[in-house]
Amino acid sequence: MTVHKCVICGKPYIGYGNNPAPVYNGPEQCCDECNATIVIPARMGAPIDPLLKAKAGLMEVKKAMEINDTEGKTKLGKPTRLGE
Ligand SMILES: [Zn+2]
Repeated sequence: MTVHKCVICGKPYIGYGNNPAPVYNGPEQCCDECNATIVIPARMGAPIDPLLKAKAGLMEVKKAMEINDTEGKTKLGKPTRLGE
């Protein structure tokens, strides 16, 4: 088995790894944990920065998702202005 280094958390992992886009764009892969806690939420529209902070232990992932929910509601509540 080949050991790779996760491009997001830097931890070694065994196996194929995961495509880290849109969190990281490059040939490197990320570990299953980062894929589940950062990459997948980011693909669902969660802001990446709070997810990375959550990964670093500064914030709960749940909190990062709540921020995304709040932002989503705020955006939906604003009238769309074209041409500005
Ligand atoms: Zn990782």
